[in-house]
Amino acid sequence: MPIVNQDVHFLPSGNKIKPPTKLLPVRDGERDTYLWYITKDEYLRLNKIFGHEFQETGLGGTKVVGLPSPCPGCGKYTEFIDWVWTALRRGVHTREFMFNALKQGRQGAENMHDVYCSECGLLTPVRSRDNSEGGLDAPTIDQAKPIERSKYDLMPELLERKEELAAGRPAKKEVVMWDEWWLDDKGSTAAYRARIAKQKAEAEAEAKLKAESAKKEGPVCNLICV
Ligand SMILES: [Zn+2]
Repeated sequence: MPIVNQDVHFLPSGNKIKPPTKLLPVRDGERDTYLWYITKDEYLRLNKIFGHEFQETGLGGTKVVGLPSPCPGCGKYTEFIDWVWTALRRGVHTREFMFNALKQGRQGAENMHDVYCSECGLLTPVRSRDNSEGGLDAPTIDQAKPIERSKYDLMPELLERKEELAAGRPAKKEVVMWDEWWLDDKGSTAAYRARIAKQKAEAEAEAKLKAESAKKEGPVCNLICV
C-alpha cells in the first residue's frame, strides 16, 4: 500500500529552462560530476516547501553525478528540490529534520535515490541503484512504496561549507545571496558578470551625475525660514 504525504503538494516551477551547471574536475575512473546551481526560481520554491528562509542553510548548489534532464511529463529539468520533495512526499523525513540536516551540512554516503518530479510527480531519470526503491514499478509518486528511513540518507552531495565542516570550523553565518542565474547553459558566468558590471557602472554614473548637479545648485535650505 503506497504511503504518500498528501500534505506535500505539487510545486509548479517558473520556467522550463535548463538550470546552470558546472563540470567539476574529473578524477580517474569516476563519472562526470557536476555542480548544480540552485536558481532563484528554485530557491523560492524551496522557501515554500520548507516554510523557512532557505538561505539560512547557506546552500547554493549540489554535487550530482550527471546532468539534469527534462521531465518526460512536464518538461521541467531535474533539480535539487526534487530530492527534497520526493523524501517529504514519501514521508521519509519531516521538513524540520531535512532543513536542519541541510543547515548542518549533513549528507549520506548513498545518494542514489528514485527521484520524482516535484511539478508533476513522474519518476525522473534519477534512480536508485538496482531498483532498490522500486521506481521501475512505480512510474508516479502516488505508486511509490514506503522506504526504510535508515536507508534513506540525504540526496546529492552538498557542496557549500563542506571544506570548513571537514576542517571542524563552525559553519558560515553569512547569508548567501542568489541571483537569477549564475551560469548560462554553456557553464559560463560571462553573461552574469557582464550584467553585474553594467549595473555597477550605471549606479556609479548616476551617483556621479547626482553629485555634479548638487554641486551646481549649491546648498539648499529646506527649512522654512521666518
Ligand atoms: Zn514533471
